[in-house]
Amino acid sequence: MGNIKDYKIATLGSHTALQILKGAKDEGFETICICEKGKERPYKSYGVADQIITVDSFKDYFSIEPELIKQNAIIVPHGSFVAYIGPSKMMDVKAMHYGTKAILDWESDRTKEREWLLSANIKLPKIFKTPEEIDRPVIVKFHGAHGGKGYFIANSAKEFHERYEAYKGKEGHDKYAIQEYVVGVPVYTHYFYSPLTGELEVMGFDKRYESNADSIGRIAAKDQVDVDIRTTYTITGNVPLVVRESLLPEIFEMGQRVVEASKKLVDGGLFGPFCLEGIIDPELNYSVFEISARIVAGTNPYINGSPYTWLKYNEPMSTGRRLARDIKMAIEQDRLAAVLG
Ligand code: ADP
Repeated sequence: MGNIKDYKIATLGSHTALQILKGAKDEGFETICICEKGKERPYKSYGVADQIITVDSFKDYFSIEPELIKQNAIIVPHGSFVAYIGPSKMMDVKAMHYGTKAILDWESDRTKEREWLLSANIKLPKIFKTPEEIDRPVIVKFHGAHGGKGYFIANSAKEFHERYEAYKGKEGHDKYAIQEYVVGVPVYTHYFYSPLTGELEVMGFDKRYESNADSIGRIAAKDQVDVDIRTTYTITGNVPLVVRESLLPEIFEMGQRVVEASKKLVDGGLFGPFCLEGIIDPELNYSVFEISARIVAGTNPYINGSPYTWLKYNEPMSTGRRLARDIKMAIEQDRLAAVLG
């Protein structure tokens, strides 16, 4: 039987590192936090890192990777990890890595992502191939845009062309998707699928706190027009949420279908934490505009567990801790390869 004392858990100090490292410690692992110079303080203050490795920039990850390998560290990737390494370089990561790297290809390319979700029978917002087809509110998303910055809303082809002017000449301005703007409430569902138990779990939900989308409603409609605000969705935090219980059966099924579909796309399929991000409309249709094939920051309010993990575990169970438990179980059952990718 493998011993978890022979391994360490490492991640980059950003995004969901606090709960990943805390969860790893709660499961008995030693932890390593890779921090950018000057950004170590939270990881020290909250006592989650047994070791801190400082780099000038996360982009220097590959220069410290040999040290991680020497220490038998298992990397837990999160959004910032993928963003800094770059989806194309993920395959060059040589340290042990929790999760299937190849699935990130399907997540980071909007066309492939759509193909995957459609094959899982998930409802997606309509896509308009050309601005001239716009017959309802749309949200225009530039490829590679992050944190909802650089999106704009249009109601017609004319409005599209007017607003598009501001982006012309900017990097990546010619690559965008015109998506139906679904009117409803945003709901982000956090799942966990363990390849060891074969069970899909719903860990919790959140909604995002976005500036200035969540601030527009604080001023009167007349002022909104007068100050000529363009809606942006810069993420600043996450707000916990529970959903109507009657939605849960379909939400479980959606997650299950996404996992099953992923197995047809890449070896090993999708496992570990993932998130479906979408809008629920007044008819209770859940339209998904994005999947994250890894832990999302929306799980951060639940370091002590969510209402849903409390039902299942009766002990504090964050997504970070669930992940560490998967790794621990794999080591102890001598099946570590099953959770690495
Ligand atoms: P990013 O991946 O850059 O964070 P998202 O794709 O998550 O951006 O979208 C940012 C925000 O834009 C979402 O939180 C949501 O409020 C809004 N949004 C995105 N797509 C749609 C859509 N099709 N309909 C309505 N709102 C949307």
